[in-house]
Amino acid sequence: TTSFDIQRIREDFPILKRKVNGHPLVYFDNAATSQTPGVVIDAIVDYYSRYNANIHRGVHTLSQEATDAYEKARIKLQQHFNAARPYEMIFTSGTTHGINLVASGFASFLEKGDEIIVSAMEHHSNIVPWQMLCEKTGAVLRVIPMNEAGELVVEEYEGMLSDRTRLVFCNHISNALGTVNPIERIIAAAHKAGAAVLIDGAQACPHIRPDVQALDVDFYVASAHKMCGPTGVGVLYGKESWLEKLPPYQGGGEMIEEVTFEKTTYAGLPHKFEAGTPNICGGIAFGAAVDYLNGIGFDAIAAYEHKLLEYATRRLLEIEGLRIYGTSEHKTSVISFNLEGIHPYDVGTIVDKLGIAVRTGHHCAQPVMDYYRIPGTVRASFAFYNTIEEVDVLVEAVKKAKLMLS
Ligand code: PMP
Repeated sequence: TTSFDIQRIREDFPILKRKVNGHPLVYFDNAATSQTPGVVIDAIVDYYSRYNANIHRGVHTLSQEATDAYEKARIKLQQHFNAARPYEMIFTSGTTHGINLVASGFASFLEKGDEIIVSAMEHHSNIVPWQMLCEKTGAVLRVIPMNEAGELVVEEYEGMLSDRTRLVFCNHISNALGTVNPIERIIAAAHKAGAAVLIDGAQACPHIRPDVQALDVDFYVASAHKMCGPTGVGVLYGKESWLEKLPPYQGGGEMIEEVTFEKTTYAGLPHKFEAGTPNICGGIAFGAAVDYLNGIGFDAIAAYEHKLLEYATRRLLEIEGLRIYGTSEHKTSVISFNLEGIHPYDVGTIVDKLGIAVRTGHHCAQPVMDYYRIPGTVRASFAFYNTIEEVDVLVEAVKKAKLMLS
């Protein structure tokens, strides 16, 4: 493995020099959004300083440069996810947009009584669009149950599949618990039943480099802002055969071939799904972020983050009355916890006074909280630019919060 120079990596992130409430920032809310390295900030500044222009239509130089850079970013994403073709990568505004695009398209394929399977561990963005789809089509939503460790009960899922199953939706990694789900098995079983699969990779992509061809997944979605890129841009991978079948999501400029008032014909992939002026700068910066992550290497990232996770788990569990939710062996660097008898919001407020950013609440995964019969958790989520010393700061802060609140 490569040596991991944490001090050098931290130098890449200007924000990590900040103070919050008089303390050095300890940023442990990476599962909500990641921080941005200088190279990505530079890509944004460079775009607006040198070649800001609309793409795919101008003959002028700036427009051509912007189009080139945007399409190069698409190819970077294709290579990163190992898609067979660049036009299988659709730029979106983020994971939520990608999911809604697919859900809306499937409305035209589903019939009353068809079944859609989601997991008990989904983000609201991967529950609500399917509920809306079921209301529209009369399809039935079924749920893969989870266990106390925060793992999906895959055996039950395999029993739920039938010739009525049309679609399966599952996150690759749970944002609330950090569990890595066995998506290879989930995809293979769905395909055996003739169903399509969409994997929500929003939480996985900061930690893992997915290979969409090896996974044989039908759709895979991600957000740039969880991967050291900017907000408001993401990607939907779809197999060409599915993208050809799906109707367009939005009408507008860019997505047409020919428009008359009698009939409009749609543009080919990927433009069919990219109506309107896209987040050009965002797409280019997303490409820069993917380059940056690959420069560090996902093996090195995973190994380092695993060390942080193990250390933080051990140290936090030294605090009496602290419970961690999500105890699977297969997990990434997310720790969701509560102090007995203390509301997560109060813990979050106190640690913020000490410069530590954690997330508190239901993490847009209320069904997971209902399962554990809790209103929410404190969630500390680590990235490769965090340190063991920062974990120590968190542990001391949580101890202090416990003293003050109990
Ligand atoms: N799915 C999961 C698992 C997530 O963690 C998130 C973001 N918290 C989303 C979907 C939604 O992503 P976005 O807000 O970028 O659309």
